[in-house]
Amino acid sequence: MAGSEEKEKAVFDVDAASALVNELRCTFASGKTRSYEWRVTQLKNMLKMCDENEKEIAEALRQDLSKPELESVVYEIGMLKNSCRVALKEVKHWIVPEKAKTSLTTFPSSAEILSEPLGVVLIISAWNYPFLLSLDPLVGAIAAGNAVVLKPSEIAPASSSLLSKLLVKYLDSSAIRVIEGAVAETSALLEQKWEKIFYTGNGRVARIVMAAAAKHLTPVVLELGGKSPVVIDAGINLQVATRRIIAGKWGCNNGQACVSPDYIITTKDYAPELVDTLKNELERFYGKTPLESKDLSRIVNSNHFTRLTKLLDEDKVSGNIVHGGERDKESLKIAPTILLDVPQDSLIMNEEIFGPLLPIILVNKIEESFDLINSGTKPLAAYLFSNKKKLKEQFVMSVSAGGLVINDTTVHLAVDTLPFGGVGESGMGSYHGKFSFDAFSHKKAVLYRSFIGDAAIRYPPYTTEKVRL
Ligand code: NAD
Repeated sequence: MAGSEEKEKAVFDVDAASALVNELRCTFASGKTRSYEWRVTQLKNMLKMCDENEKEIAEALRQDLSKPELESVVYEIGMLKNSCRVALKEVKHWIVPEKAKTSLTTFPSSAEILSEPLGVVLIISAWNYPFLLSLDPLVGAIAAGNAVVLKPSEIAPASSSLLSKLLVKYLDSSAIRVIEGAVAETSALLEQKWEKIFYTGNGRVARIVMAAAAKHLTPVVLELGGKSPVVIDAGINLQVATRRIIAGKWGCNNGQACVSPDYIITTKDYAPELVDTLKNELERFYGKTPLESKDLSRIVNSNHFTRLTKLLDEDKVSGNIVHGGERDKESLKIAPTILLDVPQDSLIMNEEIFGPLLPIILVNKIEESFDLINSGTKPLAAYLFSNKKKLKEQFVMSVSAGGLVINDTTVHLAVDTLPFGGVGESGMGSYHGKFSFDAFSHKKAVLYRSFIGDAAIRYPPYTTEKVRL
């Protein structure tokens, strides 16, 4: 059985991908996915799917990442259900053509902007939130009336397989399909012509996706990552601040989240108090033997485990560990680890960490942090903890990142009225709430005229009188 399944997967080549796209193109051409009823039915079914399979979904996430059940229920299933509810409530408004003002040049006329589905779209998702990152963009694609192929990440195989099983059961498989697989299958999909590619993952593969998309002039949304900094000013409520940093770092998949705090910047004077508070709160949450804590996800696989331990064991930084550092290769667990006064040219400061290690960079004056952040590539998120109005203003005006949060971390992605996406190296395009609908729609400009108001100036002969008018 396992052998025949493998054979079935192995035959997903360029021809199979082409046949799949053709089939979905026929469904799209039939107009089925454009109807309001179809969109609402799919969204309702997705909600039902979440409600009826919460245990199975949490179990798949446990298998892939030993993700704590609460994190699965709140951050994957809960957030997805919220997206479905928002879309279900709002889609009837989103599809209404938007009236636009007209100009004297076309008088008399009226105009509107029509949100038109794009066609057949491809969603490629990542392993760290394998359920949410696959289905949240799908909510937008369905709400906008598209046919969709979803390619989940092979690095979270239990979730990928469950998604494939559930979607065929709950959603309309004449328009929505899951293709499981790795590089070969994704490459076959990328050779096809799509009306949009929505990719979540790292910048290296994003370049492959964009190059493939360029061949067909396909627009892309790239949801990438980066080094998201946290600036910590003195004189704040440190207990609340450190708890919010812990929740955003170790409480989000043990640091394997795109918006997780990547490093902290604080002043030399304030660092000792900050480190003490972080240590106390970490011990309160995860105990004295964090490797045994059930509330920490494991590292996804041995490749990422080795990558992270290399960052930690580099000679330049191994002496800077002030908390944690324990790891267990067998269970792929790494304890919450803090490194103080890390040099800028270390490995850990030159790649996205995407794991439970948190370096602290020291500056003399907190204002120096902003130039330091801006000297690197633009992060997906940047955070500031401060009570000072002027510093907050300076941060908002001068730091460029996908999104900013003042006095908290990561929670901006739960606000569906804010666009979620990167800038520069952290990505292009955005989604969540109406932004998801817009990401999968074409804004079609429509101008209505009648046969009156036919100005002679438009037509030859272009006489001197007409030029002077
Ligand atoms: P990954 O390894 O799961 O890869 C992402 C997708 O790319 C997978 O579906 C995979 O099959 C596909 N892929 C891999 N190699 C490919 C190739 N050569 N050709 C075509 N497709 C290929 O995930 P990852 O890249 O390790 O994800 C982690 C990165 O994603 C981090 O940088 C993180 O910050 C970022 N991320 C961003 C967001 C966001 O919303 N902005 C969310 C999660 C993760």
